[in-house]
Amino acid sequence: MKHIIFLGPPGSGKGTHAEKASKLLGIPRISTGDMLREHMKGDTPLGREAKGYMEAGQLVPDALVIKMLKERLSTPECANGAIFDGFPRTGPQAEALAEVVPIDAVINLEIADQAIVDRMKGRRVCPKCGFTSHTSWLGRKTDCEKCGSDLVIRSDDQPETVLARLRVYHEQTKPLIAYYKERGLLRSVNSEGDVTDVEERVRKALA
Ligand code: AMP
Repeated sequence: MKHIIFLGPPGSGKGTHAEKASKLLGIPRISTGDMLREHMKGDTPLGREAKGYMEAGQLVPDALVIKMLKERLSTPECANGAIFDGFPRTGPQAEALAEVVPIDAVINLEIADQAIVDRMKGRRVCPKCGFTSHTSWLGRKTDCEKCGSDLVIRSDDQPETVLARLRVYHEQTKPLIAYYKERGLLRSVNSEGDVTDVEERVRKALA
């Protein structure tokens, strides 16, 4: 399998499991959220344009995200495939992706809204390398296991923003479940519970 999408609400574990699948299959993970955060950090024109949308928990306009994604897909690194994490999030994005690469499977991570809110409360990220962790795995540790920097709460993980992101998910992204089901590509996985159990379910869904 060469092109795999990880679909699911914010906090469903897309980043964590897309990264594991990327290592398992030896193809790069493309996270549009990480790319946009890099642009914001670098204060690029795209970063400045995206900032307001991201901080409000809204989607960055399709045209901007699609252009950024297509540029990334055309790099040699993506010649053998890619794992999409957080893209597509709208119908036009799904259509744009279908025009450039054939999709082999869509892993749909399923989780109840309340479990998301609980999970997001404990999410911690590394401002330097982007590594994501959770207070329930960290215990008393507060530093990044990859680069040692102090972990922080992502600015869009504040409770009000999480609720806005969930609303956006239900309105704009959830219809993609039916879109990919119709095309015979959807593989749903229960994303609640222990991360290693979910990893095993994802592995089976990818087999
Ligand atoms: P994520 O890291 O995937 O949760 O994305 C964080 C934020 O980046 C989202 O809440 C959006 O504001 C923006 N974003 C990421 N991917 C997309 C996308 N495919 N389309 C529009 N906005 C996006």
